[in-house]
Amino acid sequence: MENIITISFDDIDSQYGGCTTHFTGIFLHEIKDKIKLIDYPLLVRLNPGIPWKTRGNASTALRFIYDDPKEIFEIAKNLVDEYTNPRPPSPNKKPGIVITQGNVWEDENFKNFYKKALSDVVLLDEAINILEKNKVLYYGGKGLIGATAAQGSLGLYEPYTFELIFYRLPDNWNKDRCVRDDLVLKIEKSLPACSINNYDYIKEKTSVKPNGPDPILSGFRGSCEGLLWKYESSLCETPHFALLFRSNQHTSYGLFNDAHPYPYRNVEIEGYVSNIKILPKGHVIVSLNTKYGMFDISFYKDTGPLNEAAKLLVNGDYIKVQGSVRPYFYNSNPTISAYSMEVIYVNQYEKEFSPRCPICGSRMKSLGHNKGYRCEKCGFESKYINKLKIKIDRKLLPGIYMPETGELMHLQKEKYIQLPILTSLNYVNINQIFKVYANP
Ligand code: ATP
Repeated sequence: MENIITISFDDIDSQYGGCTTHFTGIFLHEIKDKIKLIDYPLLVRLNPGIPWKTRGNASTALRFIYDDPKEIFEIAKNLVDEYTNPRPPSPNKKPGIVITQGNVWEDENFKNFYKKALSDVVLLDEAINILEKNKVLYYGGKGLIGATAAQGSLGLYEPYTFELIFYRLPDNWNKDRCVRDDLVLKIEKSLPACSINNYDYIKEKTSVKPNGPDPILSGFRGSCEGLLWKYESSLCETPHFALLFRSNQHTSYGLFNDAHPYPYRNVEIEGYVSNIKILPKGHVIVSLNTKYGMFDISFYKDTGPLNEAAKLLVNGDYIKVQGSVRPYFYNSNPTISAYSMEVIYVNQYEKEFSPRCPICGSRMKSLGHNKGYRCEKCGFESKYINKLKIKIDRKLLPGIYMPETGELMHLQKEKYIQLPILTSLNYVNINQIFKVYANP
């Protein structure tokens, strides 16, 4: 394919509203008659542990054919300025726009940058170095980190999912969202096993509506692109427009590494359980003895089945944890917030009890080490009676434990779902991924 352009965005929002994915839809609408899309719009989630994100640390990208990148760049800059004004970005946030040409998703520099931005903290200077080295068009500030990462994302042979996002008419941004939970469930049940994280079966509610005054009405996720449009009939509010994204959400791809647990890094770490504390609110703190030293792993109450499994751990169990390293300590150990856990070895242990008296059946009392037992009730005494050892029946089984579906982190893969991969990029018909319902 010739004249391939990838344009990517991040941080196109402000404290007054808006979001990068919404902007991407508006930008696509602006250029759609000029270009030929060669991929779905991309919704790229990055390190969820980054403290300066607004919501889900998302950036976006569009891959298309067009022969004038400078023209596209000018349109994008003007539209970003218009979008963020009168909603100016807060002082520590600056939109980022990056434009590259060619198969950037195969470029090792961009691919590695993307992988680092998924699992670690990257600096703006690192992004600018790559952009300068590759002589690409770019504009903005801190958002360039996410925009540069999006360029190297979702290459061929990487797992992916879809999200169909419905956006609200501006007049509705501050009002309650109208999506019928009962219909979402009904539609979900009519689909093959390709819906991801849309319904929490324990809390019996949907997870498709965000909170707050932003432009998203609802987002439906799954591995089946065409079928996601069925959820349209669960909306009881007229949307402004809808856009179908291809995404790295729920793939866990590149999210966790076996790396030294520094703050804000996502790691996979294993070790022996050496202490368990259940806090009054139900959070569980497990001290883990690992090759990097002792860490306190926090299993928050709202992780449901994961938190319940953590409560069943005992000292000596061997577990592998995937999580985000926090910048604080519970005791004297650094903390890792767990997203999932694999129980590898369940410690089989025995508890010791005083024996019962063979004459009257009462509990006996020890006479000291190797000196036998005496019954306090009937007085029977014997040095040939030993402690009673009872094997404790463990309720925890080896296996993988995660939050309930509907409560997964954006990037976290569902346990059993099969994910698609692309082996080549193909033209995408805009009418199948973009729909306008009403004009504001
Ligand atoms: P929205 O949904 O509106 O886009 P968001 O939750 O995605 O909000 P952003 O406003 O995009 O949050 O803010 C995230 C900021 O963090 C961006 O400036 C992005 O460039 C930056 N960023 C993303 N990943 C990393 C990383 N791994 N290291 C450092 N900075 C990062």
